[in-house]
Amino acid sequence: MMDLDEQFFEDLDFWKTSPVGEPSQVMVPPMHVDKLKEALEELQIEFGVHIDNLQPLIDEETRAITSREEATTLASFNYNVYHSAQGILNWVTDFRKAESSSSLNIKEINVGTTVQGRQIKALKISTGSGRRAAYTQGGIHAREWVSPATVINLIKKFVAAFKSGDSVATQFFKKFDWYVIPLFNVDGYHYTRPESSYRDRMWRKNRQSSSSQCTGIDMNRNYGFKWGGSGSSSNPCSETYRGEYAYQARELRLVKDWLLNLKKSQTFMIHVDVHSYSQYWVYPYSYTYSQYDRTRDHYDLGRVAEAATNALTAVHGKRYTVKTSGDWYPAAGASEDFGYEILGAKYSYTVEMRDTGHYGFELPENQIKPCGEETYAGFREMFRQVLKEV
Ligand SMILES: [Zn+2]
Repeated sequence: MMDLDEQFFEDLDFWKTSPVGEPSQVMVPPMHVDKLKEALEELQIEFGVHIDNLQPLIDEETRAITSREEATTLASFNYNVYHSAQGILNWVTDFRKAESSSSLNIKEINVGTTVQGRQIKALKISTGSGRRAAYTQGGIHAREWVSPATVINLIKKFVAAFKSGDSVATQFFKKFDWYVIPLFNVDGYHYTRPESSYRDRMWRKNRQSSSSQCTGIDMNRNYGFKWGGSGSSSNPCSETYRGEYAYQARELRLVKDWLLNLKKSQTFMIHVDVHSYSQYWVYPYSYTYSQYDRTRDHYDLGRVAEAATNALTAVHGKRYTVKTSGDWYPAAGASEDFGYEILGAKYSYTVEMRDTGHYGFELPENQIKPCGEETYAGFREMFRQVLKEV
């Protein structure tokens, strides 16, 4: 399938990449459809058309969004819909103002500005000094709308759980500072939205210019550990373009510098990057296919991932699967390897939210709530397991 992509000048957009024997999903531009069908038949690869035309689904989603008003206060913020980039940035500030208390110190951090001058906002949630650190990020890939929506719900739920005396949330905030960036790729996300005058709902990369006519770097192929290897493209027009060098993406460099600066005074134990879709809980390494290149913490990472996915699956019966190198496709220069090797977080994961491919990135808004509920259960179990070690 990857060889085929080269034949089509990397114009094929792989929504889901699977190992041999499992179906992949790919978005094909109209001009390549007939030729791709011929090529697949020749190779005797089974295929079917899942969505004949994506545009009507996007149009329907757009109508719903443009027919309602963006929230202006925290009280009117609807946690079960997709928000504009500005709406998410406003939420960060509104939430910090409303929820900071004497027992829970919530600080807003401006990590820096994006290529187009938007703020990258983080929250630090803490109950005191001398804590270990946990980090969570959402929305590094622009089109994965359920990711920032879920991260926002996670923050809300963990803060509420702490306030109501939940044992895990209480222990967690006693031992950890939680750093969270709900929306990492602010420019890219804005570019997928109806608020943007030029728009591509299926945009994935950031919006940085390159020397070619194509825009954007895939920030989840631009991290510095084993940068440039398999599963990343050197073609600036590809959706998985790795950039000319590691951390070339402005937003990524800012976040990396910020995290490594924090690392000087705090020990990171948890690094989770929230994506969609496939319902996977993935642990390092991501750069390799080889099951011989296992991390020294392979056993613990797998055990905690299993516990988290079991808790998650129990909520609504949506089956999540644990994956690691050798089970999946390689992605060199991705966040989970950075989190593990460079930030030094023993528990570094990539979590792929709903669904398994029925809607893919066009996940309806009515799935935000159940997705938040089950992901909260998964995170809570992950925290519970990690807390046994501190
Ligand atoms: Zn992603």
